Amino acid sequence: MAPIPATLPDVSSSSSAAAPALGSDRRLLLVHAHPDDECIATGATMARYVDEGVHVTLVTCTLGEEGEVLLPELAHLASDKDDALGAHRQTELAAAMAELGVTDSRLLGGPGRFRDSGMIGTPPNERPDSFWRTDLLTAATELVPVIREVRPQVVVTYDDFGGYGHPDHIQAHRVTHYAIALAASPTFRPELGAAWTVAKVYWTAFPRSIVVAGIEAMKAQGIDDGFAEMDPDDLPFACDDELVTTAIEAPEHLDRKMAALRAHGTQVTVDGGFFALADNVGAEAFGTEYYRLAAGTPGPVGADGRESDLFAGIVGSDEAGSPG
Ligand SMILES: [Zn+2]
Repeated sequence: MAPIPATLPDVSSSSSAAAPALGSDRRLLLVHAHPDDECIATGATMARYVDEGVHVTLVTCTLGEEGEVLLPELAHLASDKDDALGAHRQTELAAAMAELGVTDSRLLGGPGRFRDSGMIGTPPNERPDSFWRTDLLTAATELVPVIREVRPQVVVTYDDFGGYGHPDHIQAHRVTHYAIALAASPTFRPELGAAWTVAKVYWTAFPRSIVVAGIEAMKAQGIDDGFAEMDPDDLPFACDDELVTTAIEAPEHLDRKMAALRAHGTQVTVDGGFFALADNVGAEAFGTEYYRLAAGTPGPVGADGRESDLFAGIVGSDEAGSPG
């Protein structure tokens, strides 16, 4: 896609079919590892910002080819059978983005460029084409032109642990941060577009207190599987509350988040897992999504001591950007 010179006003943008008009002066880029991760951690945020007129771009790094298949009739798609899950999950991702209203959804490097790495210690993780084994510069160089084209003020990805330790999530974190640094350098691959400096970077976060409250609520309902069986003192995916800088409250977008999650039919069961947690603690756990500010200047905070807007403190459309 053609790079957009930084001197052009925001209303002008690429008009090719593959590049939706970036007519908004606020632009949000989210980088996720697999189809469905975007709904679980950031679905309500994406729906809210779409409704606010923000240009929301999703980059998914792999097609989740190694995922479990929860639908018996599609069990043949699994990587140890037909190995056709990736193409199917692409259709699920498209359906989920339709639910959220996101029109700019991209796969890092194109479909199938980087393969789901599976878990550490499993054979898929040894494959040279796995995202985990991919050279960091190679993968980051695929993200640089997206950053320079979209020119997001805000980028969302995972923390250095990838949220919960999955190698593709850790790699997504590394690739995103490396690409942000490279995209800001005018002398790095100028043919990939004019340099762009991202103003704020966020990592997704599940606050420990919210997760523990959810577990207790499920136990109180007599539920003893899934999240309810986790040890509240040993939750590696939970984030200490004091590190959580930002809470995006979007309870009115919870329905669309859950509809989008249901679109990932091979990955989610409608009566368990996140749905059970959501049913029992409701919008408190899922209608609000939490983040840690990883880079950039914090904006104004509310009575809870947290920002309520990822764009808080960012003034004007291009203040965040480098002159290129
Ligand atoms: Zn994932």
